[in-house]
Amino acid sequence: MSENKFEFKTEVNQILDLMIHSLYSHKEIFLRELVSNASDAIEKLRLESLSNEDILESDSNFKIKIYLDKNSKTVKISDNGLGMSKEEVIKNLGTIAHSNTKEFLKYLKEKNIESEAELIGQFGVGFYSSFMVADKVTVVTKRAGKDSSAVIWESKADGFYTVTDTEKSGRGTDVILHLKDDALDYLEEWEIRTLIKKYSDFIEFPIVIDVEKESTVVKGEKIKEEETLNSQKALWLRSKNEIKQTEYCEFYKHISHDYNDPLEIIHYNVEGLTEFTALLFIPKKVPFGIFHNHQKIGPMLYVKRVQIMENCEELLPPYLRFVKGVVESSDLPLNVSREILQSNKKVETIKKSLVSKILDTLKNMKKSEYDKYLEFYLEFGKILKEGIHIDFANKEDIASILLFESTETESGKFTTLDDYIKNMKADQNEIYYISGSKRKDLENSPYLEAFKGKNFEILFFTDEIDDFIMSGMMEYKGKKFKSATKGEIDIEKNKDKEKEKDFKDFIDFMKDKLQGKVEDVRFSGRLTNSPCCLVTREHDIDPQMAKLFEAMGQKTPEIKRTLEINPNHKLIEKLNQLYKNDKSDKKLDDFTQLLFEHALILEGSKPENGNDFVNRVIDIMVDNLK
Ligand code: ADP
Repeated sequence: MSENKFEFKTEVNQILDLMIHSLYSHKEIFLRELVSNASDAIEKLRLESLSNEDILESDSNFKIKIYLDKNSKTVKISDNGLGMSKEEVIKNLGTIAHSNTKEFLKYLKEKNIESEAELIGQFGVGFYSSFMVADKVTVVTKRAGKDSSAVIWESKADGFYTVTDTEKSGRGTDVILHLKDDALDYLEEWEIRTLIKKYSDFIEFPIVIDVEKESTVVKGEKIKEEETLNSQKALWLRSKNEIKQTEYCEFYKHISHDYNDPLEIIHYNVEGLTEFTALLFIPKKVPFGIFHNHQKIGPMLYVKRVQIMENCEELLPPYLRFVKGVVESSDLPLNVSREILQSNKKVETIKKSLVSKILDTLKNMKKSEYDKYLEFYLEFGKILKEGIHIDFANKEDIASILLFESTETESGKFTTLDDYIKNMKADQNEIYYISGSKRKDLENSPYLEAFKGKNFEILFFTDEIDDFIMSGMMEYKGKKFKSATKGEIDIEKNKDKEKEKDFKDFIDFMKDKLQGKVEDVRFSGRLTNSPCCLVTREHDIDPQMAKLFEAMGQKTPEIKRTLEINPNHKLIEKLNQLYKNDKSDKKLDDFTQLLFEHALILEGSKPENGNDFVNRVIDIMVDNLK
């Protein structure tokens, strides 16, 4: 017999510390977590047995058994699932596989740990929850298969664990909890019954316990009989009207590790050429890591009651990656592989149906439960929008449920594209928008002067990706999107032929002075009060967006800008006059640069050379004080 002492990885210690000190108020969940692990282990074995029947060694009586022993103050959760080899025990119960756990721990440290600690469940640290109720945990396990041997893993959560060789009669895993003094309630049968009913009723395998039966007394002693505590019915296969809301919620928490109830439940089945049942959930809160692709995407996939995949990516597009759930179909082969899934017509049909069901649900929610929709949108709107870019067939549907602030909404209130179109003025043909990060800056932007003069509504695109996504969409219900800062706008009729002639030489002079900085200088159709602004070409990427890409190390195409001037502005008029009077006045040079720099600032950029800019301004001030 050999015993080895190992040290936990740092993150395990941190997790254990969190478990013991922050989560203690929810300690009853340890049972759900351990039963869930046991059930997973049986599920894995069953899947493996589909291609290798020998692995069962004639024991296909799958079950999870709970033993309560008041003498030793232990609870044992025992399964005849896949079990673990020595290497697997060390890997699974000594480290944390999920790559973003460290990131999460850092995040927790920075934030208020108490309120966010529940999120820990998402990271697959279920087993360690044992230490909320036990001061010592012993795991005896034996991997399925003829030549495997058994090991004992043991720890007191003191930074170390031991792994020792042992004997065990059958395959599977026993988790033995040596209960803390304040957790002795879990030795009571009624307590265990209640918890199993509450958290694990739908687990597919029987969860059994030995109970004394009054009726079977042999030689004066009551005989114990096994009793199954859970109903074992797959929730998604039961009829909707007999399922209680709490059952849905517990199931959701079981599969998502979310601590909150779901925001919305979608449960339906389809009959016909492709038959399937889907039970989907929209969470209330964005799970940690969803923006960094750390999330496992897609619902669980069951075929004929067997779990084939924990996350079937092929069933949902990435922009619906926040949706959790289960899909079961009897139309797919049991030995389905990723390759088969990718080219399977039925999978494609199911995916289509799921997507349109989810979008319909959201549409209806927006219509009849707006506040709830808003709660959803503020959390997931950003992710949903990605769909416009990648789901060509549904982009109009997705666009119809997007919300935007605008010049016509109060701050924090929203309009939709449909309402925008209804609100369009008779002489307005396009959907106008302006992008930037803060509503306050956008509201006062000189780019909107002419639009405001005409009472045209302008949407505020305040999400970083809005400009990129919406300009890519091109149009909604026949109306083109048009940025207030790009291309030509001719709302303000500045195109007076006489005036253009009058300004021609001065404009040429400016073009010459700003060579390499702007592509063109022209009269503006969007300014009424300001002297000038910079605009990009119609299909150029937004300058702020370009900066974002550059910050991420991505190259962006060069942005060509045009300087637009307002010929009715005092300053521009005076400069034109000055030019006519004395083309060699040094002021002309400086002021042209200043106009350009001023326009850069308005656009949200910085003058190219801050020092030069400041010196020019100082010169003007000094001149003024003479
Ligand atoms: P998760 O279950 O989310 O992966 P856990 O910390 O609960 O995280 O478990 C870690 C790993 O230990 C599991 O992924 C599994 O491989 C293994 N494990 C836990 N319990 C059992 C069990 N009863 N039988 C077999 N393997 C188990």
